[in-house]
Amino acid sequence: MLILTCKLRNEIINCYDGTHSKEQLKKWATKKILLCPVCDKPYEYCHGQVKTPYFRHMNKNECEDRFSESETEEHLNGKRDLFEWIKKQKGVNNVVLEGWIPETKQRPDIMFEYGGKKYVIEYQCSPIATEYVERHELYKASGITDIWILGTDKYLEKSEIGKNFRMKEIEKHTDIYYDVYGKSIISKSIDISRLQNVNIDEMLYFFMDSDFRYYNENKRKLMYDFILENNLVIRSLSEEYISPLNLLEFNDNKILIKEDAINNIQNFYFKQKEEKLLYQNKLTKLSDFRKLIFEYYSAEHDINFSCMPSQSDGLGFKYAKQYFGFNNIANYPTVNFCKINYIYDSAIYEKLITVDVSDNGFKQVISLLDGQLADEIKFKKEINDFVKKYERQRKEEFDDLKGKLSQFTNKPIYLLFKENNNKLPSNIRFKFFEGTSDDLLVVMRCLYKDLKFLKEKNANKYVFMIPRKKWRTSSTGRSQYKVWNHPREVISDFEELGFTVLTYDDLITEVK
Ligand SMILES: [Zn+2]
Repeated sequence: MLILTCKLRNEIINCYDGTHSKEQLKKWATKKILLCPVCDKPYEYCHGQVKTPYFRHMNKNECEDRFSESETEEHLNGKRDLFEWIKKQKGVNNVVLEGWIPETKQRPDIMFEYGGKKYVIEYQCSPIATEYVERHELYKASGITDIWILGTDKYLEKSEIGKNFRMKEIEKHTDIYYDVYGKSIISKSIDISRLQNVNIDEMLYFFMDSDFRYYNENKRKLMYDFILENNLVIRSLSEEYISPLNLLEFNDNKILIKEDAINNIQNFYFKQKEEKLLYQNKLTKLSDFRKLIFEYYSAEHDINFSCMPSQSDGLGFKYAKQYFGFNNIANYPTVNFCKINYIYDSAIYEKLITVDVSDNGFKQVISLLDGQLADEIKFKKEINDFVKKYERQRKEEFDDLKGKLSQFTNKPIYLLFKENNNKLPSNIRFKFFEGTSDDLLVVMRCLYKDLKFLKEKNANKYVFMIPRKKWRTSSTGRSQYKVWNHPREVISDFEELGFTVLTYDDLITEVK
């Protein structure tokens, strides 16, 4: 067993509070005057660079509590912390670290009295099976209330991973864990009912990473630092409570949150709410600011200017296929990221961003963007001008051709389609019309050319055979056709140009 206290002359001293230097303790140990308070045999003193110093019997077989178990640093540090903590609790007295109960030959980690009753705290770090029941019965028989607090190295970590976890026997009797690394108590039995007006889940959302409980050392440390700094109590998603040891008080076998801690938590919660509101206001301002920039570019340059926030920061915009995030603009002198409250990879990952959204800031952003976008804008304008010119030319040609075609509209046009081909009497003369197209202007060009030709030939009727669109030439050299020119569409094109359209049946009736 690793021990923190020993007897020096007739006084109990410890090896951790700095009263005696390492060198002094080493000297005394060499003189064999540091004694076991129970059996009066000498202790040796052990210390290293990192490890917590401790005493132990020189002869390991001497005076051992038969239940003694923990040889771990977790146990050593834990019983020390809990001892220091319970000492400071109101109404608690006669606190003894590593005391001895002769009746039961047990050496509990901590003994104390409260309200005239005897208590022990056992900080249990190594899983034990049936032993717990025996020890508990022994304490009970001696009129002692035993409080069992479990370590996290062997207990909690395993309980966190997966659903196949089987609770150890002792965990049916206690749900209080002490984490020596974070100096925190994790327990469902901490009384947080007095935390009125605080939505703990909402608070949790602000700064807690859900996977912290898988004990990523860095994350855990960051989180605990944060909790300690802010005097915070939080409830994890699995309904367990975590609280720094210094916020707790002992009251009649119950661990409670101190009154001033409750005030701190409430204050923190309200402050968080305020900050959230502030953050949202900033975002709204920023979003308005961005909108202003879009509007400016759309109005000024008569071109599309799309508002597409990126996935990552949601604060940028897209222009001419280029993404402009406010993160990039952060380097510009114009946008002042005066407050980025952002702790990377920690429990807190909200970021607060402010930009200079004044008129002046706007002018500066625009002037910088203008510089960056000058070429893009010029290019886009050239394309726009070209497209406009092209559209104008088409319109002119359209009007011109429509006028020219009107001289032919006094006669109907017979439209024959591919499916009529085999049934045509041999005396009917027709012209193949090759100009069917989705583009009416193309139709007009061909039609004008063909009608001019027919007029020169003194044709007494305008009869056009509309072929199906040639699709491809097969390997045998025969053309394959696809029904692409739907008669209805072709007819409506001709009608739109002012012609009366007659079909196969009309033609056959007329020639008979
Ligand atoms: Zn001893």
